[in-house]
Amino acid sequence: MAGTVELVIPDLGDFQDVEVIEILVAPGDTVAIEDSLVTLETDKATMDVPASHAGTVVSVNVATGAKVNAGDAVVTIEASEVAEAVDVGEKTIVIEPEEQAAILAEVAKVAEAADVVKEPLPDTTHFAELVVIGAGPGGYTAAFRAADLGMKVILIERWPTLGGVCLNVGCIPSKALLHAAKVIDDAEAMAEHGVKFGKPEIDAAALRGWKDKVVGRLTGGLTQLAKQRKVQVIHGTAAFASSHHLELDSGETVGFEKCIIAAGSEPAMLPGLPNDPRIVDSTGALELDPVPARLLVIGGGIIGLEMACVYSSLGSAVTVVELTDALMPGTDRDLVRPFQKIVAKRYEKILLGTKVSGIQATTAGLDVLFEGKDGNIAETFDKVLVSIGRRANGDKVAAEKAGVTVDERGNIPVDKHMQTNVPHIFAIGDLAGGPMLAHKATHEAKVAAEVAAGEQSAFDARSIPSVAYTDPEIAWVGLTETEAKEEGVSYEKAAFPWAASGRALSLGRDEGFTKLLFDKQTGRVLGGGIVGPSAGDLIAEVGLALEMGADATDISLTIHPHPTLSETVAFAAEAFDGTLTDLYIPKKK
Ligand SMILES: Cc1cc2nc3c(=O)[nH]c(=O)nc-3n(C[C@H](O)[C@H](O)[C@H](O)COP(=O)(O)OP(=O)(O)OC[C@H]3O[C@@H](n4cnc5c(N)ncnc54)[C@H](O)[C@@H]3O)c2cc1C
Repeated sequence: MAGTVELVIPDLGDFQDVEVIEILVAPGDTVAIEDSLVTLETDKATMDVPASHAGTVVSVNVATGAKVNAGDAVVTIEASEVAEAVDVGEKTIVIEPEEQAAILAEVAKVAEAADVVKEPLPDTTHFAELVVIGAGPGGYTAAFRAADLGMKVILIERWPTLGGVCLNVGCIPSKALLHAAKVIDDAEAMAEHGVKFGKPEIDAAALRGWKDKVVGRLTGGLTQLAKQRKVQVIHGTAAFASSHHLELDSGETVGFEKCIIAAGSEPAMLPGLPNDPRIVDSTGALELDPVPARLLVIGGGIIGLEMACVYSSLGSAVTVVELTDALMPGTDRDLVRPFQKIVAKRYEKILLGTKVSGIQATTAGLDVLFEGKDGNIAETFDKVLVSIGRRANGDKVAAEKAGVTVDERGNIPVDKHMQTNVPHIFAIGDLAGGPMLAHKATHEAKVAAEVAAGEQSAFDARSIPSVAYTDPEIAWVGLTETEAKEEGVSYEKAAFPWAASGRALSLGRDEGFTKLLFDKQTGRVLGGGIVGPSAGDLIAEVGLALEMGADATDISLTIHPHPTLSETVAFAAEAFDGTLTDLYIPKKK
C-alpha cells in the first residue's frame, strides 16, 4: 500500500517554537526510515528530525528559520510500497512486505517455545519446567531470572561451587591478583615522588588464600541466592539423552519442558606439549604455585597479558610470545601502544610474529624453541602459561541427541531469542558464539529465561564492551577504528589526551587517552576507546551513550564531576563539538 504521508516533528519535550536551522532533504530525494529531514536548534542543543517512513520526498513544508512544534508536518513523502500499516494508537507502524514473512516465522518460533508440546517423558529422577546446564554467569543468571518469573527451575553444575569460570577461575580471581599487582606497582611508582616503601615481601600462599576467600564469598552467595529463589541445584555432569531429558554422570535423569545450555568454554591447549605441571593454562596460573623466576606466556591476548601483569609485579621475569605481529590482536593499535610501551620496559622480552615450535621438559626447566622472523631461538623457563584462546563446550553435552546443531568450533548457533534450531532449547554465553565475556553471558541469560517464561524478549544490544584489565587498562565499545577502516565506515574521531587531565596527572598517570568515534552526519556516538587506569569503568558511559543514541552534545552538556577521569569522556565530546577549552585545538579550515 503506497500513499502520501506527512512526516511530523516528534515530541520535543519541554521545547516549543523551535527553530529550523537546516533543511536536509529536497523534493525528489529518497529517504529511508531514520534518515534526517531537518535540523532544529534550541538554546541547549541541535537535533535532527528523523523520517518515520521511507519514500520519495514530494514537498518540504518548512523553511530555514521557521519555528516548529511537535506534530507540525515538515515533509510530505510518497511512501514506498508497503504491505500493511498497523494502527497502534498514536503511532502507525509500517511493515515492509519482505519483513512480514520473517516476523511471522519469529512469532511462530517464540509461540512454539512458549507452549512446548509436552511429549511423553521417560520416567526421570527429577523434572522441571526449565533445566539449566552449567552455573556460570550465563547459567545462574538464567536460572534466577526464570525462577523470578515463576518457573520451576533445576540448575545442574558439574563443579562443587556455582559461578562457573568467571567466579571460580576467571574474571574474579584474576582481578583480585591484578589488584595486588597494582598496589605493588603504585607503591613502587611513588618512590619517584617522595614516598618510598621497602621491597615487597610476597607470601604467595597468603595471597592465594585471600583470592580464594574473595571467590568463596561470591560463590557461597550464589548458593544462598539459589536457595532464596527455590532453584534446585544438582551437582553432576549432564548430557542430553533426548530432546526432553538429560542423563547425569550419577546415573540420575532429569526431564524438562525447556532447557538452557550454558556449559561455557575451556582453555585451548597447544597440541604436542609435554605433560608437565610447570606448563599451565589460566586456571593453573591463578594458583601462583610457585611464582617462577622466569615465566613464558604463550599468547598475547587479554587473558595472557593480564596474567603477565600479575607475575611481573610479583617478581617474575616475563616473556610474552605472540604468533601475530601485535599484542591484543584486533584491538586498535593506538589503544595498545601506551600499554606496550610500558610493558616493553618491564618484561624480559616480547616476541611478536613468533611461534613456539616445541617445548622439552628437563629437571632444570622447560626448554622452549621459538621460530620467528629472525630465525630460531631457544630459551629455558621455569613455568609456561599457555593462553591461546578458549574453546566452546557446545559439543560436550551430546546436543545431537536432542537434535541441537553444534558447529565445528563447539558453538551452538542461536537466534536473537537465544533459541537453538530446537525452539524449546536455548544456548547462551561462551558456547553461543560472539565474544566470550561474562557480561554478554548474563544479558543473553535474561533473554533466554524471559523467552522460556513466555515473555517477549530479544538480545538486541548495540554493543558489548571489551576490557583488558592490564596496567594501564584498555577498554573499547561499539565501532573500533580497525573495524571502521575494514568496513569503510565513515566516522570522525575526537580524542582527549590524559596528559591534559588534572586527575590523571595527580594519579601520576599521563599516558592514557580517551577517544570517541562519531557519525559525521548525525554527530551520534559510534564507538569509543580508552586506555589508562580505570578505563574499564569509564567505558560504561560510552556504552550508555551508544545505547541511548546520544550525540557529542548530549555528552558534553552532561556535567561531569571534577577532577575525575570521567571528564576525559566529556572533553573528547567537547573536542568534537568544538567547545573544548582544556586544550587548544586549532579550528579546521
Ligand atoms: C582467566 C580469565 C579471566 C577472565 N576475565 C574476564 C573478565 O574480566 N571479564 C569478562 O567478561 N570475562 C572474563 N573471562 C571470561 C568469562 O569468564 C566467561 O566469558 C564467562 O565465564 C562465560 O560464562 P558462561 O556462563 O557462558 O560459562 P562458564 O563460566 O564457562 O560456566 C559454564 C559452567 O558450566 C559447567 N558445565 C560445563 N559442562 C557441564 C555439563 N555437561 N554438566 C554440568 N555442568 C557443566 C562448568 O563447570 C561451568 O561451571 C575470563 C576468563 C578467564 C579464563
